[in-house]
Amino acid sequence: MKLAAIKGQNRVIDALKRSISVNRVAHAYLFEGPDGCGRRSAALALIQALFCKEPVGGDACNRCSSCCKLVSGNHPDLHQLQPLPDKRDITIEQVRELQQILSLRPFESSRKGCIIEPAERMNEKSANAMLKTLEEPPGDAIIILLANQSDRLLSTIRSRCQHLRFSTLGTDVVTGILLEKGFEQARAAKLASLSEGSMKRAISLDGESDLADREKLLSLLTNLSSVRIGSIFDQSESLASGREEALQSFKLIISLLRDMMIIRSSGCTDISNSFLYQELADEAARFTQSSILDLLELAIAVRNAVQGNANSKLAIEHFMIGYAGFRKGV
Ligand SMILES: [Zn+2]
Repeated sequence: MKLAAIKGQNRVIDALKRSISVNRVAHAYLFEGPDGCGRRSAALALIQALFCKEPVGGDACNRCSSCCKLVSGNHPDLHQLQPLPDKRDITIEQVRELQQILSLRPFESSRKGCIIEPAERMNEKSANAMLKTLEEPPGDAIIILLANQSDRLLSTIRSRCQHLRFSTLGTDVVTGILLEKGFEQARAAKLASLSEGSMKRAISLDGESDLADREKLLSLLTNLSSVRIGSIFDQSESLASGREEALQSFKLIISLLRDMMIIRSSGCTDISNSFLYQELADEAARFTQSSILDLLELAIAVRNAVQGNANSKLAIEHFMIGYAGFRKGV
């Protein structure tokens, strides 16, 4: 991937391109930001640009043998350091092994590259063992640390890296990337609105029936009526066939109520379920601000009770009766 193809992180990408153009690329970088915002893609793109045999304007050509190997994940000079599958931490043994590899001559490129992810998982021993390597990587190697929260790293690690902060992606950026990946417009917009600025989350939501569930739940709530109490009992059955289903329903209900709260108090459109904005705004108008807050508190309390093993069906009924009671105009 080219640096120019990284979306939604212009400030960081411009800084990297500038460093390449004046030949002042750092030996060690710390890319900090939330999951799914492009840190890893940017790290790979930077290494690709540096390894490329025919770079164009400082960026990778995406065609030479080096670029092809990096894109297919087969470049012998790119190394990755991450916790082993059965381990919590990146161990000091792994760090020593990496140091050994970095001390050897590169196979194809003029230098080696290494991505450490997540850098927070280096324990104190392994982090301390890494310090000298970060300060003077052998053979001109470039080392890129990826972290969610840099304050969880040793200050001595942070101070040896050039620190670049990545931001959460805008909804429009996530939509654009999903469209490029071949998603249909409506689906892309829905996934983006729920992604909280994370491509990782957008893609993982795609595998869930979560979106349709949110829509269905809201429609169910908007059809609740305190005068047709029988319908509440029917609906509760469908939402609480088991404890896990009830917890999932409460997770979605809490998310919908939070959005109603935001809309009712500020009219703000920046909500989690923005694809349901109009429906949520219409529904929020049937409540006072304080009754939405009461319902949110009720939903959280009832969810906690289900987590503590209360009867799921009774819990859902309890919430729905409360909801229907607060709802105006039915
Ligand atoms: Zn190339």
